[in-house]
Order: sequence, then structure tokens, then C-alpha cells
Amino acid sequence: MSTLKKIEDKINNHESLTKEDGLVLLRSRDILSIGKLADAEKKKKVGSKVFFNVNCHINLTNVCVSRCRFCAFSCDKESPEAYVLTAEGAMEKIRAASSALITEVHMVSGLHPDLPFAYYLEIVKSLKSEFPSIHIKAFTPVEIKYFSDISGFGIEQVLGRLKEAGLGSLPGGGAEILSHRVRHQLCPKKASSGEWLEVMRAAHRTGLRTNATLLYGHIETKEEIIDHLITLQMLQKETGGFQAFIPLPFHPANTMMDCCAMPTAFEQLRMISISRLMLNNFDHIKAYWIMSGLKTAQLSLFFGADDIDGTVVEEKIAHRAGADTATGITKEELIRLIKQTGNVPVQRDTLYKEIEAY
Ligand code: SF4
Repeated sequence: MSTLKKIEDKINNHESLTKEDGLVLLRSRDILSIGKLADAEKKKKVGSKVFFNVNCHINLTNVCVSRCRFCAFSCDKESPEAYVLTAEGAMEKIRAASSALITEVHMVSGLHPDLPFAYYLEIVKSLKSEFPSIHIKAFTPVEIKYFSDISGFGIEQVLGRLKEAGLGSLPGGGAEILSHRVRHQLCPKKASSGEWLEVMRAAHRTGLRTNATLLYGHIETKEEIIDHLITLQMLQKETGGFQAFIPLPFHPANTMMDCCAMPTAFEQLRMISISRLMLNNFDHIKAYWIMSGLKTAQLSLFFGADDIDGTVVEEKIAHRAGADTATGITKEELIRLIKQTGNVPVQRDTLYKEIEAY
């Protein structure tokens, strides 16, 4: 019996895959067989639906004390490129995007050395009071941990206050690779793996749903990728609070690691499939078109992905790192891309409530 066949049997028996299984998949070149397994799992969960949302991204500041080696977005306070949006400036951007009937604001930012926690609370409150129906998905666990450090509040207090102000859920960023070795080399100043997981656990306890990510294609080993997936699988077993998993291919341009080569389409499609198969307790696997490109994102829909993210409007982080995709896309274009694959495009809100099928 081939090893892939053994893995297939386990999947059909609803068994979770082990580290050994994950490594077999990650070392395999047979992406069509792996993709077929992942596509079947996707179909068991959501049939032929593929989700998208109508959202906008906003980054309050690019000033960051962490200066991670893989980040092309951040800069020091003294840099001529440094910016900080005022609450009114942020509101103007959202007003401009609201004409497209956005249902979500996705907001992540640098760790600014001088802004107080009150600044973030004010932005969330202002946004919620002017646009009560727009869901605010904001602040990675790395930012939440930083708010706790600068405010003196515990993690649960920070989350509680943000939730009270109108925060609806957390994005999944800042996970990178949940490995001490990798974080020590690439981002020693920001939240550790344990802290990232602790914030997620606390968010789920507070009733905030979250996503989870993986940044791959830099110095990580195959073992570290699979360990990352197993760690998420275990936390999901414990809390059930994750909605979607988003594997992010690393874009090296303009970073301190520009000697790395970006993951190829082959590697990206295999990663989408492995995510679907290893994370059998996650409902949604997202192909984030901004990072993968529209073509690979569209192909990902045959390899286990059931979500293609949203309209975005103005993306800055991946584009500073060399992403050559548009910074936004229309809803009509997303619908066209999904329909071409034979799937049914379903507009969702942030919490995966279905708004309309096309
Ligand atoms: S990845 Fe986030 S925490 Fe790291 S430097 Fe960039 S903005 Fe700062």
C-alpha cells in the first residue's frame, strides 16, 4: 500500500493526520493526487461553494518597533515614509470605501512606539458609531500583546475593551512560523509563539472568532511547517474558535531577506492542499489572492481552498514586499473568477454568514 493511500484511508476514517503524514505530503511531488484528496475534503465541508467578502484594508501606521526581517512594510519613526493616520484620516478612508457596500474593515498596523492604547480604542469606537453594520476585524495577536505591554492591562482586559468598543473578530496574522528558532532569527522583538497562541486562546474565550496564518518560503524547515499546522489543529480542538486558515507565501522584495525565492505555484498549491488535509477541524482554507496572485488563487479552488478573500481596495503590506497583484479587485471580478472554476460564488460576512450566492 502506498503511503499516500494510507493517508487517504486515514482521511476517509476521519482521523487527524500526524506529523509523519504531513511530512510525506510536504515531500511529495504528486500534487494532483494530494489536490484531489484536498478538493474532496473541501467538498465534504462546503460542497461547491466558494466564499468571498466585500471588504477594505486599512493600516493605521507603518511605524513599528519590531522591524521583523521579513517585513517590507514597516519603518522607523524618523523615516520619510513613516505615517500615522489620525482617527479622522482613518474614517475618511472607510467613508471612501463604504460606497462599495463593504461589510468588513480589516485593520492591521505596525507597533508604534508612541501611540497609546486609547488611540486604537478611539478608532474602533468612531468606526462603529458611524458604520454600525460594518464588522471590524482588527489587530493581530502581536498587536494585542503590544497593547497589553503599553497599557498595563492584561490580554483579556485589552480584548474586552476592544470588544466593548466594537471589535468583531481578530485576523490571523503575526503567526509567521510558530517556532522559537525561526522567530528568534526573524522577529525576536515581537510576541513569541506561546504569546501568539495565548492571545488566540484568550480571544476565543472572550467570544471573538479569529483566523490563523502561516508565512512560509523563508528559513523554515518542513518539520517546522508541519509542527505549526499540528499546533493550530490542537488549539482548534481545544477552543473551536478559528474560522479560516490562510497559508501566506513569503514575498522577499524590499525585505532584509531578499535572497529568498518566492514559493512557486507548485509549492503554493501543495501548501493549500496540505493545509486542508492537516487542518480537518478548520472549516475554511483561504487562498489570499493578494499574496498568491489571482491565477494561483483561482487554481487553489481545485486544491482544497474554499475562500478567496475579498475586494480589499487598498493593500499595502504585500505590495511593499513586491506583490504585483492589483491592490484591490471588484466584486464582479471575484465572482467571474470563481464561476469559471465551476464553483458557486457566495458572498459572506466576516463570520461566514451567507449574504448572497451568485
Ligand atoms: S511584520 Fe508586523 S510586527 Fe513585524 S515589523 Fe512588520 S508591521 Fe512590525
